[in-house]
Amino acid sequence: MPGIVPPGSKVLVSGANGYIAAWVVRTLLEKGYAVRGTVRSEEKGTHLKKIFASYGDKFETIVVEDITKEGAFDEAVQGVHAIEHTASPFHFKADDPQELIEPAVNGTRSILKSALNKSSIRRVVVTSSTAAILSILPERKVFTELDWNEQSIEEVKQGKNASQASKYRASKTLAEKAAWDFYEASNTNRSWDLVVLNPPFVFGPIIHDVSSPTALGTSAGDWYNSVVRPDMGGKTIEAITTIGGGWVDVRDIALAHVLALQKQEAGGERLLISKGEFVYQDFIDTANALSPSPIPSHTDLPKGKPGAGKDFVPKIVYDATKASKILGPELVYHTMEETTRDTLADFEKRGW
Ligand code: NDP
Repeated sequence: MPGIVPPGSKVLVSGANGYIAAWVVRTLLEKGYAVRGTVRSEEKGTHLKKIFASYGDKFETIVVEDITKEGAFDEAVQGVHAIEHTASPFHFKADDPQELIEPAVNGTRSILKSALNKSSIRRVVVTSSTAAILSILPERKVFTELDWNEQSIEEVKQGKNASQASKYRASKTLAEKAAWDFYEASNTNRSWDLVVLNPPFVFGPIIHDVSSPTALGTSAGDWYNSVVRPDMGGKTIEAITTIGGGWVDVRDIALAHVLALQKQEAGGERLLISKGEFVYQDFIDTANALSPSPIPSHTDLPKGKPGAGKDFVPKIVYDATKASKILGPELVYHTMEETTRDTLADFEKRGW
């Protein structure tokens, strides 16, 4: 029967070596689950095996070289009770939109297909994004789970000339649509239900394998460049005070992935997980106000235009009340101060 997956169950996490996924794995292990993580090579599992060594055989990795191949996950899904599908490219460097769309869509279809007729599997959670929800409109709008980003799908019809943001957003929208389409079409031969999580920008400390700030992923890298580098990563004052988005702490989206396994009512739902809106000036001001400073060696944190974040009126606003209702009171979002302090302390420890 589809539904709740209690602690003690085994969960497959795809793309386990990623920023968000490593926290999903850690949170699952802490809550008493066993985890099998997919990675693209043995080498990419080495760091995870080291950091989760204390969990013994409760954590294992499996190599899935090409997630887009039919049957790619057939072996990985054997004996698991749930799946958390996070693997998908997240970058703004694609030439052809298909570089992002193809792995996002086919990877999603492939893992869902492998999960068909596997009676042990009760729930599948797919990591989508607010990229699959938002549209750029002239007016302010509060977005909910009822909204779909049709705009980016239209824009990528221009091919290479589409904006980088559109290419990524289209990949997430099309992948999520593929998940729901597959789910609806397969209701006779699956034992699981589907939950989709839609976070905005994810920030916070890292536990996956990253050798230097330049190797950080898209969201954590952008935060580092904006809040830590004295030159704000080359961004203008205008950019850090007027270009914003929604954000959530990586530990909260990881917890949401676990709670999504534990709440019956989450089945068949799309859940927007967001702490609130920001411009980087807000994080910059927060970083400069921390006392004692978690990064005593950085006396040259950028200042930007202190206080200017207060004048920012976000046009895109996310309503995350449905997720709070369904996932329950355990989902308490980290504050901007907590996320900033912990992220800076993490960077300080790494000598960044
Ligand atoms: P990371 O880049 O840190 O991790 C992505 C994971 O997906 C890695 O394991 C990566 O493997 C794998 N992956 C990427 N491309 C492919 C591919 N073509 N074939 C197989 N595996 C692939 O990203 P995040 O942790 O930031 O993102 C994880 C998920 O969350 C993604 O689905 C992303 O769209 C979504 N998301 C992220 C947000 C954010 O702000 N970070 C916000 C909203 C949603 P490898 O290391 O081998 O490349």
